[in-house]
Amino acid sequence: MIQAVRGMRDVLPAQARRWRHVESVVRRVMSGFAYEEVHLPLLEFTELFARGVGEATDIVEKEMYTLADRDGDSLSLRPEGTASCVRALQENGLLYNQTQKVFYAGPMFRYEKPQKGRYRQFYQIGAEVFGFPGPDVDAELILLCAQIWRELGVLEHVRLELNTLGDGGARQAYRDALVTYLNPLSDQLDPDSRRRLKTNPLRILDAKSEQTQKLLADAPQLPDFVDEASRQHFRQLCSLLEQLGINFTHNPKLVRGLDYYTHTVFEWITNDLGAQGTICAGGRYDGLVERLGGRATPAVGFAIGLDRLLLLHETVDPGSTGFADTPADVYICCPASDSLEVAFGIAQRLRAQALRVRLHMGGGNLKKQLKRANASGATWAVILGDEEVQTQTMSIKNLTNGEQQQLDLDAGVTLLASSESHG
Ligand code: ATP
Ligand code: MG
Repeated sequence: MIQAVRGMRDVLPAQARRWRHVESVVRRVMSGFAYEEVHLPLLEFTELFARGVGEATDIVEKEMYTLADRDGDSLSLRPEGTASCVRALQENGLLYNQTQKVFYAGPMFRYEKPQKGRYRQFYQIGAEVFGFPGPDVDAELILLCAQIWRELGVLEHVRLELNTLGDGGARQAYRDALVTYLNPLSDQLDPDSRRRLKTNPLRILDAKSEQTQKLLADAPQLPDFVDEASRQHFRQLCSLLEQLGINFTHNPKLVRGLDYYTHTVFEWITNDLGAQGTICAGGRYDGLVERLGGRATPAVGFAIGLDRLLLLHETVDPGSTGFADTPADVYICCPASDSLEVAFGIAQRLRAQALRVRLHMGGGNLKKQLKRANASGATWAVILGDEEVQTQTMSIKNLTNGEQQQLDLDAGVTLLASSESHG
């Protein structure tokens, strides 16, 4: 047998049910905040990510799935959604003289070391907002996340960390100061950080190595470089969040891996998943639209890692509260030789009542069919035996307690329709 490609995950039915539930909650909250969905391509010109995400980021340096199109163009499977989103809105004139609040959902691809919560194909739901420079919209996005966590019952299991990177100038000045400080110490850094000193020095701040973290204790501190306007933006954001009752901690070492962030950055982190604890990350990227060739446009967004959110949801709610843990409500047994036409008809009538109906296929006697009905997890079995077909009735068996009754067809449909569907 040919096996799946490493890091590409199959989502099997039981997990897909949880997925659908979690995703539907996210979508409901998005629409409650009046964010509109956009669908974006999986393939873009490699150049878009090189410029948008940044040449020196891990993503562009070593994680992209890049291929040559037949005419020689270099294309890449999208490693993230923000650059594509900016490209799409810009290209279609939707950033011109207007504001936008949108979201997207879909798979992203990065060539990483697969482990729990880290895959090579993973699924993000991201929100992006364009045209608002103030902290009000930063706060709204964070509130939106909190609302999702609350509705999924995981709010108590995550914490919010916030930081401000300052404007582009502050960021550059800090980067220079950090490099000046670390350069003479470079042989004491862990190998990754030593490499990043040349390519992406801010990333050194979240190095895992203890030795590196020790060296950083006396390093210049980012908050000392942040410009006054950005500090004020951050203060306003913090006080808004306090008014909204959203807990957070200021983590001055939070920098995020992507090049395009300015001002606010944030992460939602859980302790319940081990090393891959960040379930959502985002921030402001006021410079990105211009960097991709548009007019300067303030922008801010986040991306939820749905795979990790699902793992967290499963940890917190292993019993699948609030969504169906079986595929069918009703299983129709049709052991009578000429009951199939009736059975198809009844199945359709029940489906029209929003019931999920599985019709027995493959024949066999009633005993065998009821066995399948029980195994299906359905709440009800509808039995169409010889007697039922002759008298134009159905027998309804409650598979939970074994009670059975025989009703005429209309009454049977009505009874089942009034029972609660779990779909
Ligand atoms: P990490 O530090 O965990 O690698 P990141 O900074 O690369 O994350 P972003 O690019 O900001 O992550 O993506 C936003 C979110 O998408 C992450 O917080 C995480 O939940 C999820 N995510 C990122 N990479 C992966 C992956 N390889 N597998 C599963 N989820 C991922
Ligand atoms: Mg990463």
